[in-house]
Amino acid sequence: MTSLQGRILTPTGWQDGKIDFDASITKINQASLPQNAAYIVPGFIDVHVHGGGGFDTMDGISGIRGMADFHVKHGTTGLLATTITNPWNNVITALTNAKSVMLEPSRGARVLGVHLEGPFVSPQRLGAQPNFVVDPTPERVQEVLAFDVIRVVTIAPEQPHALEACEMFARAGVRVSIGHSVASIEQVQAAIEIVKSVGGFSSGTHLFNAMGGLEGRNPGIVGAILANPEVWAEVILDGHHVHFLNFKAAYLAKVERLMLITDAMRAAGMPEGKYDLGGQMAHVRDGTARLENGSLAGSLLTMDRAVQNAVLAGMSLKTAIALASSHPARYLGLSKKGSLKPGNDADIVVLDDQLEVQAVFVDGIQVA
Ligand SMILES: [Zn+2]
Repeated sequence: MTSLQGRILTPTGWQDGKIDFDASITKINQASLPQNAAYIVPGFIDVHVHGGGGFDTMDGISGIRGMADFHVKHGTTGLLATTITNPWNNVITALTNAKSVMLEPSRGARVLGVHLEGPFVSPQRLGAQPNFVVDPTPERVQEVLAFDVIRVVTIAPEQPHALEACEMFARAGVRVSIGHSVASIEQVQAAIEIVKSVGGFSSGTHLFNAMGGLEGRNPGIVGAILANPEVWAEVILDGHHVHFLNFKAAYLAKVERLMLITDAMRAAGMPEGKYDLGGQMAHVRDGTARLENGSLAGSLLTMDRAVQNAVLAGMSLKTAIALASSHPARYLGLSKKGSLKPGNDADIVVLDDQLEVQAVFVDGIQVA
């Protein structure tokens, strides 16, 4: 049994007190605290992260373990190992590897599944994805679903077979996230409708990035995601991908359905230089990773920094934390994660008053 004292973020708000836990939280009691007591908050859940600390999902088992070990130091207690568009066999290998890491006891962030980002995207809106796009035929969708590791799929609804694929993924419980797309508003609406019709959940992959813009007479993908209240959205709040005002606008539209993600690539937490991203060279300097052509190539973000940025953008700390914990937990349907209350998993982050990570617990075990 472990006990921590501090300002605890519970589902009903901040509470000065003591939290007791083993693998699960057993008790939260009131207690008086000193002035500079630490913040005790739910562990962060990153539904879109490619790598970090020099490691990448596509590197193999050690790559997935390595990035989970890196991100846990920044408060991420659960993540979806995120693939990149690559030759089909590499994608299949990544799913196999993620499955074995998910089954082993972990000392890093828990790998909760896979976010399949590509190859079911548009060749016209690749961003930093290399062009190994294939159509989401029923055969391919069945092949990847058979691994039972995919929790989120990014899909461009205008691709051949995409609507059929949206339905298959949604029926299998996979969140269908629209992105890397040049879809018309009608195509986006059709995807949202088909997912809803089978009881599924849809989202927008890194809202504002790789999906065109919103204009007065053309709402585009951004407008469709903002206007449909049941649709979730991810935001990369690193100060480079999305303007803070757009983040606030997205929050006002989505409220409980907005999530902070990192979309981090392997250079997160590493020195400036050149790094591989899905077989392409990314140049890392001044806080960004870019391909030769200038495209942003993922981010160098970590979830602790994303939360700090949300506060800088004007969110309360409580909201900033929720965007990184309870919202993604609800999105993924993880009822025992994302909030601190008795019975929930003891995935806990301790932050100082500068919001720097002091300690991290996964399933009650201190890992950072
Ligand atoms: Zn992307």
